Amino acid sequence: MTDFDHDLFVIGAGSGGVRAARIAAGHGANVAVAEEFRVGGTCVIRGCVPKKLLVYGAHFAEDLVDARRFGWTLEGKAFDWATLRDNVLAEVDRLNGIYLNTLENHKVTVYPERAVFLDPHTLDVGGKRVTAKHILIATGAQPLVPTLPGAEHGITSNEVFHLEALPKRLIIAGGGYIANEFAGVFHELGVEVTLINRGDTILRGWEPALRDRLLTISMTKGLNFKFNCAMDHVEKTGDGVRLHVKDGDPIDADLLLWAVGRRPNVEGLGLAAAGVELDDRGAIRVDADSATNVPHIHAVGDVTDRIQLTPIAIREGHAFADSVFGGKPWRVDYNAVPSAVFSNPPLGSVGLTEAQARNNLGSVKIFTSDFRPMRNVLAGRNERALYKLVVDEATDKVVGAHMIGPDAPEILQAVAIAIKAGLTKAQFDDTVALHPTMSEELVLMK
Ligand code: NDP
Repeated sequence: MTDFDHDLFVIGAGSGGVRAARIAAGHGANVAVAEEFRVGGTCVIRGCVPKKLLVYGAHFAEDLVDARRFGWTLEGKAFDWATLRDNVLAEVDRLNGIYLNTLENHKVTVYPERAVFLDPHTLDVGGKRVTAKHILIATGAQPLVPTLPGAEHGITSNEVFHLEALPKRLIIAGGGYIANEFAGVFHELGVEVTLINRGDTILRGWEPALRDRLLTISMTKGLNFKFNCAMDHVEKTGDGVRLHVKDGDPIDADLLLWAVGRRPNVEGLGLAAAGVELDDRGAIRVDADSATNVPHIHAVGDVTDRIQLTPIAIREGHAFADSVFGGKPWRVDYNAVPSAVFSNPPLGSVGLTEAQARNNLGSVKIFTSDFRPMRNVLAGRNERALYKLVVDEATDKVVGAHMIGPDAPEILQAVAIAIKAGLTKAQFDDTVALHPTMSEELVLMK
């Protein structure tokens, strides 16, 4: 018997929270979850999933153009944003239902409320006092809105999935994952897109050759970029917004999308009442077991700002539940985490960039394949793919793979297995090519 209402109380039913709740319940724990918005979290409700569906929807624009070169005649071709939007949102509803069922099937109590710490073991959950032996904070992150006058006239990725109509002109502020993904989507849907960034490049931290390739292709497609652009204020105009910048002419558009990063959801949780500390970036400070400075309170996912990726939050939640409730302690390995940008074309990356490898390992060998995918050749589409392998000269191990081109994220996932397994370049070369594919380039780089 326990003196607490629950063995585990999870705050936030996103990727990390739901996985932790399900696994802990499977280990026999009495679990409750509080979610003030919708079960599923950012990824399912207003992130990865609806974004990827929009990426698919938008890509038909180019596919239908290319189809002509493959013999297809397409008459009466038209696009209806409301159809795509509503179908995507219906799929989000379906997944939300699946997540709810998962929790119910595991006998997890779901409170559709905000939970606020009253003390280290007690939460106020929609006006009710609930106690728990262990508490997991899995509240995720939210889009950052810059502190500029008029910033409220812009929207964020939370709202972008619900647009009444497509804008004619869109400004996207930021140059990271979200900015480049939505730039691709909206451009393909016929929107005039201008991406403005404070720095001199997109996708900081990514392999420079890939960033340059995406930039070149995007500019050729007709996207506008403004770099080293300091924003000053936003003005509401009759039919849209005007973004004033420090050096240069203001930019007019129908819509402004903030994509300047995400900040951990730590406000209004009563963390002070629980004694939980933050780190200097405002995220919850945790150790390698996801424990906060209060030993029975853990935190996983974006609220800890380790790596802001869904599969990482899921693993952190799973490791926590197995370790604390399953008697099977393990830790998340943050090495060789693959990631992708679903831009047009998309990028995938795992392991070290060339610069990181040179700094960490000394001598490295670089292999690249710069090619026009067969499909693009017949389509008359002058877009080249670029694959790059980074090899540790001392061990011959492939320590990094970076790709831009059609389906790069799909291919990259498989390469990530090889890199995680520590395979050598000789072992890559020893693998027979699968012809004709794009991925065969990975075993043909000399
Ligand atoms: P990113 O961190 O990827 O990019 C933020 C961008 O905004 C950078 O270009 C940054 O510039 C710029 N920026 C940051 N602060 C300011 C500011 N105050 N004013 C102006 N510009 C600013 O953030 P995103 O919002 O795109 O995505 C957040 C995270 O979510 C990603 O890091 C990723 O982990 C995750 N994500 C993953 C996806 C995927 O896996 N496909 C998709 C979407 C999100 P600078 O480079 O100069 O810092």
